Amino acid sequence: TSRPLSGRVAVVTGASSGIGAASAEHLAALGARVVVLARRADRLEQLVARINENGGQAGALPLDVTDQAAVQAAADRVAAEFGGADLLFNNAGIMLPAPIEERAGEQWQHQIDLNITGLMNAIGAFTPQLVKAAEQHGVADLINTSSIAAQNIYPNFAVYSATKAYVTHLSRHLRVELGPKNVRVSAIEPGIVGTELQSHVTDDGALAWLAGAKETIEWLTPEDVAQTVGFVASLPARVNLQQVTVMPTAQA
Ligand code: NDP
Repeated sequence: TSRPLSGRVAVVTGASSGIGAASAEHLAALGARVVVLARRADRLEQLVARINENGGQAGALPLDVTDQAAVQAAADRVAAEFGGADLLFNNAGIMLPAPIEERAGEQWQHQIDLNITGLMNAIGAFTPQLVKAAEQHGVADLINTSSIAAQNIYPNFAVYSATKAYVTHLSRHLRVELGPKNVRVSAIEPGIVGTELQSHVTDDGALAWLAGAKETIEWLTPEDVAQTVGFVASLPARVNLQQVTVMPTAQA
């Protein structure tokens, strides 16, 4: 039976939990062979086992996306073992809000290293495969996880929001560069999604803000965002959703 993503090879970063894990499962259910990347090998193995049990095909390559050489080595393995990626869901990220005056330099650097440099490492390593796949099959997808924080202003989220503004703006530029080569570039901008993302937050004010939001808003699930990713990738080759904002209904 032919499914929307049959024959395609999807690489998902940040696939060991949350949005990445749900998207890997969904892309596999839509017919793609999926390669999952993150640091926690045990989580990736469980995910691969789940996908395989459900009749999908998946492989895990544990790595730290901030390690450029490791990401390139993973891309080389995807080329050798899967024939190259035609979909990159570039999704690994971390959110560490805090007032700027706290000068949480390590947390600033962590967000910049992962949300920007890690994202770029994957783009650098996999874009040649996307371009080649688009030449051969007429379409490929680079889908970057941005955030509604790229658009809206949230107190104490300055550094995180700026990394996501980078992701959205970069995506718009790359879309113009790669679209003529049949590589669709999309930025997904979710509102608040219940994942492990919130568990890394250390700032008391931000934790209180999140707790309040949890009481007043029904948050999105990772599966809700996975549906969006699957939809974007399943459209006819001529259709490119440039920027998709997915919000909880009750979130302002
Ligand atoms: P999770 O914390 O559940 O997922 C983050 C993923 O990134 C994990 O798989 C984690 O795996 C991986 N990761 C972290 N550091 C690295 C690293 N150095 N190398 C490789 N992988 C890494 O959160 P979400 O699913 O919510 O986050 C996914 C994306 O969605 C992020 O970019 C986030 O900014 C964005 N987003 C989330 C929203 C939300 O409300 N949840 C809203 C808008 C955007 P591991 O630790 O095993 O490496």
